Amino acid sequence: MAYQDILDGIYNEVIQIENTGKVADYIPELAKVDANKFGIALVDKHQNVFTKGDALEKFSIQSISKVITTSLIFSKIGNDLWERVGYEPSGNSFNSLVQLENENGIPRNPFINAGALVIADLMLDHFENPKKFLLDFVRDLTENPNINYNENVAQSEKAFGYRNAALVNFIKSFGNIKNEPEAVLDFYYHQCSIEMTCVDLAKCFQVFSNNGVIPKSDKKFLSTSKCKRMNALMQMCGFYDQAGEFTFKVGLPGKSGVGGGVVAVFPNHYTVAVWSPKLNKKGNSFYGLETLERLTTETSLSIF
Ligand code: GLN
Repeated sequence: MAYQDILDGIYNEVIQIENTGKVADYIPELAKVDANKFGIALVDKHQNVFTKGDALEKFSIQSISKVITTSLIFSKIGNDLWERVGYEPSGNSFNSLVQLENENGIPRNPFINAGALVIADLMLDHFENPKKFLLDFVRDLTENPNINYNENVAQSEKAFGYRNAALVNFIKSFGNIKNEPEAVLDFYYHQCSIEMTCVDLAKCFQVFSNNGVIPKSDKKFLSTSKCKRMNALMQMCGFYDQAGEFTFKVGLPGKSGVGGGVVAVFPNHYTVAVWSPKLNKKGNSFYGLETLERLTTETSLSIF
């Protein structure tokens, strides 16, 4: 497949579409980013890397980090995880509180904020130094020792994180958060502040397109069954209340973040990451979705 020609063509098409999205500004530090950045990176199953545009510039991965923390906890505790968090699509926005009361503080899935906070709580329980562990793991997956937290972004989110504070306290009132809310939030804001380039991100998700094996070390991180389930979660829950539309138009498991990143996985074929900070009304990158829809349509390479 002539991936480079395909990326070049799609980039040139998408950049001409009027971008009606808006940069996230509820985390003030994120609003400082250049809204017109646009990068794409695709890594094929032989680890060949194809790039276009701003694919080597770092951005805040935000909610994309939820896939990584969930996979770490899933690999550690297996199906016990599903006693703390569900695996159904939520049909609600990423930071919604509405389902939690009826569902007794068990979040619908690990990719809405409520679920990611429960996963953050589990990270504190299962790893001695969870921040260091997460960073080391991400450095391994990306093959990039320079991946880091962005302390300014973490602190900026903490300063205005009233909704996440409400979520974690509410869940704790049901007994589904074990640690102190402050500690859970601190970990959560740091995981969201991790910075990667499109190339890092596409490499990071290779493990999910490679049956749970980390390509570089050949280490089996997730069993085939667990890897299948991580991809199923991304398919059903990766784009919140736009997960249906993403499946309909793109047809791949994937995950978005409010930093404007989107990553998608075609098992046994490729991973692809797009970054463009302007978000649609559902909090997903406007150009990111346009790009991926074109990619799977023009290559006929999607899981459906
Ligand atoms: N850190 C962000 C928040 O909690 C992550 C949201 C996202 O990327 N969708 O609001």
